[in-house]
Amino acid sequence: MEKVVLIKYGELTTKKGNRKFFINTLYQNLQKKLNGLHVKISRDISRMYIEFEESELDFVLKRINQVFGIHTYQVASKVPTDIEEIKTNIIELMKDKCGTFKVDTKRSDKNFPIQSTEFSRQMGGVILKNNSSLSVDVHHPDTTLFIEILERFTYLYVDSFSGLGGYPVGTQPRGMLMLSGGIDSPVAGYLALKRGVKIEAVYFEAIPHTSIEARNKVIDLCKKLSVYSDKINLHIIPFTEIQEAIYKECNPEYCITIMRRMMYRIMEKMAKKHKGLVIINGESIGQVASQTLTSMSVINEVTNMPVIRPVACLDKLEIIDLAKKIDTYDISILPYEDCCTVFVPKHPVINPNLQECLDNEKKFDYETMIETTIEHVQTIVIQEKMQESYQDLL
Ligand code: ATP
Ligand code: MG
Repeated sequence: MEKVVLIKYGELTTKKGNRKFFINTLYQNLQKKLNGLHVKISRDISRMYIEFEESELDFVLKRINQVFGIHTYQVASKVPTDIEEIKTNIIELMKDKCGTFKVDTKRSDKNFPIQSTEFSRQMGGVILKNNSSLSVDVHHPDTTLFIEILERFTYLYVDSFSGLGGYPVGTQPRGMLMLSGGIDSPVAGYLALKRGVKIEAVYFEAIPHTSIEARNKVIDLCKKLSVYSDKINLHIIPFTEIQEAIYKECNPEYCITIMRRMMYRIMEKMAKKHKGLVIINGESIGQVASQTLTSMSVINEVTNMPVIRPVACLDKLEIIDLAKKIDTYDISILPYEDCCTVFVPKHPVINPNLQECLDNEKKFDYETMIETTIEHVQTIVIQEKMQESYQDLL
């Protein structure tokens, strides 16, 4: 019997006006993701169908689990809509099952001669006759056999799996992710991708105060994120000159606040250059001195651009759980120092004063420095390896 993966859209279906656009984006994302495997993807308004080669099923499912916009999926048997064919195939599907079961029939083809409830009852009888280890329980069955009857074909399946949910990446415009080597920002990036936002990553580097290993760590994190996206541009900002000027000229207690104001200013310019509409980062309320609400508002004062903070209201342990789930945690905890940690003062201000920031910032010509910095940005295109051996894919 022929097998096919059925994909249900879930949240997509709530977006009435945009539905076609969402489905097309998901279709393209799946095409790219399954590139290299022997599949044929088709779609209609309610779901997608993936025909595959039996030997590649594990790879297909692994990759489906990396695509946003999928609510549930099933591996179904596709049989002609013919009562005898259906019977033969459900006997085969249910032959190794034991415990309790029920049959759930959906008849999309109203020309099919038997009504859904009656057909479920009849097929239940067929199953019982052929498998004495099974009994019927319509309320809490161990196994539910789903029968979906369409005009030409009928789909039969017993298991339904949850997809990643969210919206297909690319259904929202671009956002600029501040990606550090820490635990929080890769998780923030993942959550933004989940809402369909396409991401450009930006990393602030302060060589020689930070190492090339710290940069490689960010590249590795970006690779992990690119699993959920097509490819991600990683922009590396040479931040040394600005950071050194801050630490030479400014009140030590205000160094972090001012450094972050400089980061936001640069982010705004990068966003304009790369058509990003929002800044995304891994700030979490109260986590450190620069993330109290007062600090956030004083730092945010330098830009009118929306700043999205996907992990703002999560506990660190909740963020860590997500980091483990997306496989970034082990990279994030590698010890290489980041530009934020290298320069941390003994007593960073918890409730900074805006005027004090402005007075300190007058002490050096940061505008020219920012212009020069932007001219020297390096960009690396990060893409998940698509040509791995099958072993690597698993
Ligand atoms: P941790 O997981 O240790 O908190 P972090 O990366 O979240 O690491 P924070 O000092 O809390 O570090 O920084 C808050 C946010 O600012 C980060 O989540 C990230 O979005 C951004 N950020 C910090 N440092 C950098 C950097 N060097 N480059 C790009 N973004 C940065
Ligand atoms: Mg943090």
